[in-house]
Amino acid sequence: MPRKRSLSGIRVTGRFHIGNYLGAGVNYVRLQDEYESYIFVADYHTLTTKPNARDFTDDLYDMVMDLVAIGIDPERTVLYRQSAIPEVAELTLLLAMVTPLSWVQRVPTFKEKVRDQPDNVNLGLFEYPVLQCADIVIVKGDVVPVGRDQAPHLELTREITRRFNRTYGDVFPEPQIVLNPDAPLIKGTDGKAKMSKSLNNIVGVTDDPEVIRKQVHSMVTDTKRVYKSQPGHPRSCNVCAFYKFFFDDWEHYWDLCRKAQIGCNDKKKLLAERMIERFAPFRERRAELTRQDIDRFLEVGAERAKDVAHATMVEVREAVGLPPYLDR
Ligand code: SF4
Repeated sequence: MPRKRSLSGIRVTGRFHIGNYLGAGVNYVRLQDEYESYIFVADYHTLTTKPNARDFTDDLYDMVMDLVAIGIDPERTVLYRQSAIPEVAELTLLLAMVTPLSWVQRVPTFKEKVRDQPDNVNLGLFEYPVLQCADIVIVKGDVVPVGRDQAPHLELTREITRRFNRTYGDVFPEPQIVLNPDAPLIKGTDGKAKMSKSLNNIVGVTDDPEVIRKQVHSMVTDTKRVYKSQPGHPRSCNVCAFYKFFFDDWEHYWDLCRKAQIGCNDKKKLLAERMIERFAPFRERRAELTRQDIDRFLEVGAERAKDVAHATMVEVREAVGLPPYLDR
């Protein structure tokens, strides 16, 4: 039986940080074994906030290099750039015809973006969920792995797909949302907000060891513990939260904190060295990659995705009643 097809899209944000890696990257790597995996670099989506693609070229290469470095195998995963499949834009237009305005207006992330970038509230931003639907159904994705915060978007994708199928016949499988229950919420070095490059509170995955040491050293700890002789509170400490991901015997270290037998600086040092050691193979693999390698991987992936997208659009145009002149 053919394997189900999974689809994930990633906005261009540059090098991976630990939040990206633990929250999504680990899952991307696992998906390659379970599904026919498609991952695309969402450059059209990125244009909704950064209007010139040249401005994120470096970030795009950095991100794809990190994806490959952490274990995405371009032979097993169809890895491509969204804009390499221009049919996505055509399908977005056709899906927009069956999408009531009110459905898009209620998307919470649109309201957030309006708050974040009041000077650039463009139609592309508003149409984002329709484009997201096109990304998924153009390759007939069966499953879409997402974090909890993305689930409402995907629910909308399913509604649009149902509406299209009701209007024109069953063209698309209705994509299923697969929540990743293991996806942890990773707080940044400030210990408050989710780790994010824009908040400058990250710890890199493939950064140089010296950079990782500095980032870990900047982590906020328990402000109530002024002296090493005072017991710590691991449950509310972000440094201790990271120990769970990097040490099998994290409970032992939590106990040392509770008994005031270890200082915060020592814990940070141990954590940084463990992270550096864990990510060493990623850094080594990344160091071998060139931009030419990335161009080649994306080109091969785009060819594979294009074949699927082209076949889908033949069906879509036929269903909508458009002439087949674009199908040649
Ligand atoms: S590292 Fe230990 S002692 Fe330091 S703040 Fe965290 S829990 Fe408290």
